[in-house]
Amino acid sequence: MSTTRRPSRWSKRTLTAQALGKIDPQTKAVVPPIHISTTYIRDPDNQYSSGFVYGRPDNETIREAEAVLAMWEDASAAMLFGSGMAAATSVFLALEPGDHVVAPTVMYWALRNWLLEDAKRWGLEIELVDTADPAAVRAAVRPGKTKLVWAETPSNPLWTIADLSALAEIAHAAGARLAVDSTAATPVLSRPLTFGADIVMHAATKALNGHSDVVAGALCAREDDAFWQRIARNRKMLGAVLGPFEAYLLMRGMRTLDLRVRTASATALDLAQRFANHPNVMDVLYPGLPSHPQHALAAKQMTGGFGHMLSIRARGGEASAVATAAGVSLWKRATSLGGVESLIEHRASIEGPGTPCPPDLLRLSAGIEDPDDLFADLDHALRRAHGG
Ligand code: PLP
Repeated sequence: MSTTRRPSRWSKRTLTAQALGKIDPQTKAVVPPIHISTTYIRDPDNQYSSGFVYGRPDNETIREAEAVLAMWEDASAAMLFGSGMAAATSVFLALEPGDHVVAPTVMYWALRNWLLEDAKRWGLEIELVDTADPAAVRAAVRPGKTKLVWAETPSNPLWTIADLSALAEIAHAAGARLAVDSTAATPVLSRPLTFGADIVMHAATKALNGHSDVVAGALCAREDDAFWQRIARNRKMLGAVLGPFEAYLLMRGMRTLDLRVRTASATALDLAQRFANHPNVMDVLYPGLPSHPQHALAAKQMTGGFGHMLSIRARGGEASAVATAAGVSLWKRATSLGGVESLIEHRASIEGPGTPCPPDLLRLSAGIEDPDDLFADLDHALRRAHGG
C-alpha cells in the first residue's frame, strides 16, 4: 500500500510521464526494475527494516504504481488489486454483516450482479436507486444503518452523472462513506475525493493502463483510516494484490495517461456531435453534449473533457444496432473500454436479462485513432444497416 503524497512543484502530467522521477540507486536506470521477489531477508535482530516481508501484502513495483495513482487522485493512499472487481468487492467485504448499502441501478453490470446475487451471503443489505438523483439517495439512506453509498460517474453504459458533492453530504450526514467508481472519468478529468468522496475505485484494466493488455483494479482513499486498513487486510488475507509484472505494465501505460485521455475524450466529443445529427441515430448519450440532461453538472465535476465513453441508440431498434456493430471494420467489436483502439459493443446482449440498457444501444469506447476514420467507418456501418 502506498501513502506517498504529491510533490508540489510539477504538474501531474509531468510527474506521471516520469513515474514520479524515481531513479534506480544502484544502476541509475531511468526505468525502475521490476521487483519479482516473493520474500525478503530478515535483519539479524529479527526485524524487517526494509518494510518488505512477503509478496502477498505488497511489493515495491506495486508501491511505485500506487504512488502515481495516489498523486493523481489527491489521495492519502492507494492500493492495487488483481482486477477492478477485486478492488470493488474489497470495499463491500470491509463492511459488517447487517450493514445497509445504497448503490446505483445503472452501474457496471458484473458488480451490480455481485451485489444482488452474492453480497447478501455476507449479510449486506443492498438497495439499488437512481444515484443520479440525490433526492432518491436521500430517501434511501438510513442514518446509522447505511454504511456505504456507492456511485459510478459517468455511469456505464448510459453515462448519467452522479452529483458527488450532494452524495457526499447525504452519505456523511447518515454516518456512511461515499465510494465512487471513476473508471470512465479517469483522474485526468475528475477527482472524486476533491468533491467529498471517501474512496475512489478504478478498473485499471481500462484507461489507466490504456493498452488492453492488463487486468487490474485500484482503490484510493481520502483518509488512511480504520476502514482503509480493513480493506488492506482483506487484500493481504485474500491474496488479491496485483502481480509485479502487471504493475510494471500499468505504470508504463500510466506514463501516457494524460495524453491518451485528453485525445480520446476530444474524439468522443467530436463523434458525439457528428452522430447527434446522423439520420440513422436516434439518440447520442454523452455528458459532453449540451443536450445531455446533466451537462452542467458534468462540466462542474469534469475538467479537460467528458471522457472517452459514449453510447448511440440506433434508429430501427435492436436488429439495426446489431447489424451496425457487424458492419464496422475499423472499430473493434469487443467488450471493455479505455484502450488506444476504439471498441464497439451491443451492450444489452452482454448484460442479459434485467439490464437497464436499451436493446438499440451501442456502447462506444473512443481510442486514439484519427476521428475522421472512426466517423467514416461507423457512418458506413449505420447506413449499410439501413440498406444504404
Ligand atoms: N467498473 C467499470 C466501470 C468497468 O467498466 C469494469 C469492467 O469493465 C469494472 C468496474 C470491472 O473491472 P475488471 O474487469 O478489471 O474487474
